[in-house]
Amino acid sequence: MAHRQARLLSLRSLSESSRLPERPLRFLLAFSLALAPAAAQTPSLEGLKEHAFQMIEARRGFTQIMVDSIFSFSELGFQEFETSRYITGLLEKDGFRITRGIAGMPTGFVAEWGAGKPVVGFMADIDGLPETSQKPGVSYHDPLIPGGPGHGEGHNAGQAVNVTAAMVVKDLLAKYKIPGTIRVYPGVAEELLASRNYMVRAGLFKDLDVMLSCHVSSDFSTSYGPSGTALVSTQYSFHGRSAHGAGSPWMGRSALDAVELMNIAWNYRREHLSLDHRSHYVITHGGDQPNVVPPEATVWYFFRELNFEKVRSLHALGTKMARAAAEMTDTTMTEQVLAGTWESHMNKPLAEALHANIKKVGLPAWSEQDQILARAAQKELNGKVEGLRTTVAELRLPSTDGRNRSGSDDIAEVSWNLPTVNLRFPSNIPNLVGHHWSSGIAMATPIAHKGATAGAKAQAMTAIDLFLRPELLEAARSYFGEQTKETRWQSLVPEGTPPPIELNRERMTRFRPALEKLRYDPTRYSTYLEQLGVNYPTVR
Ligand SMILES: [Zn+2]
Repeated sequence: MAHRQARLLSLRSLSESSRLPERPLRFLLAFSLALAPAAAQTPSLEGLKEHAFQMIEARRGFTQIMVDSIFSFSELGFQEFETSRYITGLLEKDGFRITRGIAGMPTGFVAEWGAGKPVVGFMADIDGLPETSQKPGVSYHDPLIPGGPGHGEGHNAGQAVNVTAAMVVKDLLAKYKIPGTIRVYPGVAEELLASRNYMVRAGLFKDLDVMLSCHVSSDFSTSYGPSGTALVSTQYSFHGRSAHGAGSPWMGRSALDAVELMNIAWNYRREHLSLDHRSHYVITHGGDQPNVVPPEATVWYFFRELNFEKVRSLHALGTKMARAAAEMTDTTMTEQVLAGTWESHMNKPLAEALHANIKKVGLPAWSEQDQILARAAQKELNGKVEGLRTTVAELRLPSTDGRNRSGSDDIAEVSWNLPTVNLRFPSNIPNLVGHHWSSGIAMATPIAHKGATAGAKAQAMTAIDLFLRPELLEAARSYFGEQTKETRWQSLVPEGTPPPIELNRERMTRFRPALEKLRYDPTRYSTYLEQLGVNYPTVR
């Protein structure tokens, strides 16, 4: 309670409008207007934001249940069936119109409420990662399902942020009869970077004015300008001829040989590629047993570079090597491009507005237990032991050093098609390992719950800015106009390619029975930690 009061005070003291003489008076006026009946006129911008802040605070329990439920589903990319059903169920019950199975993706959806302009979208990822299963609240490796999928990046919290924010903004628009449309979208299979390209091409963002994206972080921050890397995800399959491995090996043409030769060639070539490039591969099929010459083999490559043009050349080089490997081994090669995404480019006016709201909300008040867990996990992973962040990060400027731009996120595809901004909300522990079980430690604990509530506040306040300040929308549009003046988005995925929705299907079929037993039941347990019987925090 004391903390809540403190937050209110800080929000009040940072209030932007400065017409009224005294801060407390100004605040009271704004707030009483915000609570006035529907017939009353729309409260001030700051009054409406304060109202949203209060409503989200009151929905802490709802947000926590969403964070914990999606954590317990732990579904991999394109197999997020329970997650998608759960999110759309909540939104539908709240009055959103749902379109399911969009862009050829059974787990994709669009939820919409309202009418007319502006149209403001919320987007967040929904998928987990293989082999990252982890008991929440435990500072060392303790999987819920050994070898199983988990939220080893924390994608379970993003929709909790957005759905909470969208529902609250919806209630305020309805109450004060403010025109506009709200949409909620999922980032399906973000870990495979494989949905946004298809969503753009299906025209899902055509009439959208702005996208408010969010992603879990250990910071409370945002940024603008170019970031991350452009990527092509592609599989080269080689087709040879089988034979007895000992009886008649000369009759065989090994597809695995082609895969190995391609990889050797690529690894030599690395020395002569730009220092900014990244590439990695896994062999998804290398044959069945040693005494059968492998007739089929597949290698899956991720090519990454600083921008669209460069990644396109890198991809072309990879394909040339695959062809050469086929030539060397008398096999044939076919390619399936699975995903392609540009580097991100977030919108400056939107980032500035969001950052101002982040500053008003501030970092959550962490408990001593939260800090104990964070420090123990940092120690376990040999990270810098500094606990959880307690101050809001400065607005991040565009990075000029390519080596700071490692990962990719297909929200980039959206950012080249309409003004987009990405909120990083503070639901995770700093200095852990990404795409790893350790990044799941905090994700169904009070750290994730408080961070998601803080994120929802910043997200809702920014949406309110967009509905009430047409000049912000105008500025966002004009920045986007500059961004795309000479560089127009085009797809890195060949025309007519369907989304690779078969990915992860087998693996999820294997783990589903075990996952179903672990589903969070909020009717019986107030938190997932309680259901699992985890003492919070559990440290060595
Ligand atoms: Zn992610």
